[in-house]
Amino acid sequence: MTAVTDVQETLAALRREVCALHAELTRYQLVVWTAGNVSARVPGRDLLVIKPSGVSYDALTPENMVVCDLDGRVVEGDHAPSSDTEAQAYVYRHLPEVGGVVHTHSTYATAWAARAEPIPCVLTMVADEFGGEVPVGPFAIIGDDSIGRGIVETLRDSRSPAVLMQNHGVFAVGPNARSAVKAAVMCEDVARTVHISRQLGAPVPIAPADVDRLFDRYQNVYGQR
Ligand SMILES: [Zn+2]
Repeated sequence: MTAVTDVQETLAALRREVCALHAELTRYQLVVWTAGNVSARVPGRDLLVIKPSGVSYDALTPENMVVCDLDGRVVEGDHAPSSDTEAQAYVYRHLPEVGGVVHTHSTYATAWAARAEPIPCVLTMVADEFGGEVPVGPFAIIGDDSIGRGIVETLRDSRSPAVLMQNHGVFAVGPNARSAVKAAVMCEDVARTVHISRQLGAPVPIAPADVDRLFDRYQNVYGQR
């Protein structure tokens, strides 16, 4: 098989995967209208695959996904890419271990973002998935590097794969697009549970040593070997 065919096959597979993962955003009710997106890094290439801008989730196909370079310029595709492409491209440029990025305005997590309040580590699930509180990133307006910079600077200092960008919403990352979607789903779930817990009283924090043990076990032992 030639190198060119290899790249075309990788791209075709990623178009299918990124397209299919958008169905998880609606399945878990993380998005309304067209406000939310998934992207994936093309392994070994300075490229990413992302949702087209303003196309409804029902109308997404592998073919209308957009391939961009890591400066956010369209390389392949008939549609304009998601308006979050620049922010996501910045994340791929600066965090080489990231293979997937998801953005949503999911309700409960975004309610925490509106208060610029991190989600505290008061559930084993928060320790497992996020390794501590889910942090808040700075207020940033679309149109330059400030959203991407805010995501990268916040996640660099944290074990969390998700950040609540102040007054905006969730950006989640992972080694691949599927794990980034999982982090976005988990982020909304813990945001909701901790919110409900607080209506009933003060949630009890988990001791830092236990957070470390939970995180380590979940990241290294849990699941199918
Ligand atoms: Zn947004």
